[in-house]
Amino acid sequence: MASSLASQNRRSRIHRGNEKDAYYEIHFNCISLFSIMQQQYDYIITGAGCAGLSLLQRMMQHSFFSNKKILLIDKDEKISNDKTWCFWEQQPGLFEDIVYHRWQQIDFYSTDFSARFDLQPYQYKMIRGIDLYSTVLNEAKQHSNIDIIYEDILSIENSSNTAIVRTKTNEFYADYVFNSIFFDDWKQQALQQKDIYVLLQHFKGWIIEISENKFDERIATFMDFRVDQNKGTSFVYVLPVAKNKALIEHTLFSENILQQHEYDAALENYIRHYLNVKNYTVTHSESGVIPMTNFKFSKGENRVVNIGTAGGITKGSSGYTFQFIQKHSENIIHALVNNEDPLHIKINANRFYLYDSILLNVLYHKKMNGDKLFAQLFQRNSVQHILKFLDNETSLKEELNIMNSVSLKTFLPAAIKEIYSIFKAKINT
Ligand SMILES: Cc1cc2nc3c(=O)[nH]c(=O)nc-3n(C[C@H](O)[C@H](O)[C@H](O)COP(=O)(O)OP(=O)(O)OC[C@H]3O[C@@H](n4cnc5c(N)ncnc54)[C@H](O)[C@@H]3O)c2cc1C
Repeated sequence: MASSLASQNRRSRIHRGNEKDAYYEIHFNCISLFSIMQQQYDYIITGAGCAGLSLLQRMMQHSFFSNKKILLIDKDEKISNDKTWCFWEQQPGLFEDIVYHRWQQIDFYSTDFSARFDLQPYQYKMIRGIDLYSTVLNEAKQHSNIDIIYEDILSIENSSNTAIVRTKTNEFYADYVFNSIFFDDWKQQALQQKDIYVLLQHFKGWIIEISENKFDERIATFMDFRVDQNKGTSFVYVLPVAKNKALIEHTLFSENILQQHEYDAALENYIRHYLNVKNYTVTHSESGVIPMTNFKFSKGENRVVNIGTAGGITKGSSGYTFQFIQKHSENIIHALVNNEDPLHIKINANRFYLYDSILLNVLYHKKMNGDKLFAQLFQRNSVQHILKFLDNETSLKEELNIMNSVSLKTFLPAAIKEIYSIFKAKINT
């Protein structure tokens, strides 16, 4: 559709990244003198992060969208390298060209069990946020049907068969809004609900460079649990991207985040005592908090489809999100092209929600330490099965084998409790 309210002005309001086009600038300023402008699109993507840009990239690749009017809005220009995504996959993915580093082997360490694993046919891959942002945004600038603006979004609403996105000075209308922004405090909501576990996966990572060639850039440390476990399930990733350069990330699963100096102390300690590195330069630092919960995030309503972490796409028991975003965006494209409702997409079988809840129950109530739990998993299963399980792609038979590998005494009562909670919730709705 894209009938254009103020369509003459639409082009003039586009602010394309750092492009300093005098024509756009003059018109942008003129239009901002008017009161709220209204503009119509086929699709609006709110948030130019991993989910928003993954969806936009797929739209740009499909001819169905070449005559659709698309708007991307973010409050930030996405010019900083604020995140590093790691994930595993067997085939080349959507962002294969910008994979920064990849590993075919991983190490696992804990006090009870340590081993090196060959990942084949999987590869563990790393993509830098800045590469994903610049690749997608630069390509979007070549598409005349795509507008990009940088404004703080105040609200998104449904109105009959249209969704409305409001910023301070504008209203944008669309057939569908794909939203990756949190407007409510999910944690507050989740804490008020019964049988919902709220943990946070929080971390700080440093890229360090050293003068010697000490790292093996072919092997990633997937999890090193030998560190202090007193503040929650804690482990370290070591992701070498060169012989003298690695991303070291201290990660915890717990209810509360730490003070910055506590992450710093843990990183310093790990680098000194486990990597045996005394002199290093920190060339990059990043930190983050990812929900680990069985809280059911809203999928959206009517013409607003939530995507990314805000849409509950993050795996509740692991925090991994990148590949689930890829699956979800692929499914959204399929739905739109086939005139199906993108709100009805289901990317995981229901039983994976149960498994996440059981694992969260065990971790939340500290029925078993995370290091012991992951040690059992890695000692008694093939790494390929574990990765497949974490991707929610295993068969029931494979899942039974995995369940058989962990302590029945710990997991059976948790499983009964979670089955009962799900059953109870179903009856009450
Ligand atoms: C530091 C970090 C590292 C991570 N590493 C991994 C990893 O290795 N593997 C993995 O699977 N997952 C990882 N995750 C989890 C997950 O993949 C990321 O959080 C991912 O970025 C989620 O994508 P998203 O689009 O939902 O959110 P985001 O990428 O955060 O995008 C949301 C966008 O919305 C914009 N926005 C917010 N509010 C407004 C507003 N009011 N108006 C306009 N724009 C707004 C933001 O500027 C942002 O660009 C990581 C998370 C973090 C924080």
